[in-house]
Amino acid sequence: MTSLYYCSHCKEYTLQNSCSACNNKTIERKPARFSPQDHYGLYRRELKKQQLKEEK
Ligand SMILES: [Zn+2]
Repeated sequence: MTSLYYCSHCKEYTLQNSCSACNNKTIERKPARFSPQDHYGLYRRELKKQQLKEEK
């Protein structure tokens, strides 16, 4: 998995752990498996499934 780095100075994403433009140290941005929104959506879907079961 490739890590993505972010330069807060240039507000640019890079693949290097230091910015090629300003030489500042970049922040590692690991790709999130689930965004909080997706997790909430999954929870809601599970809840809906349970509700459907109860109705039957
Ligand atoms: Zn930079």
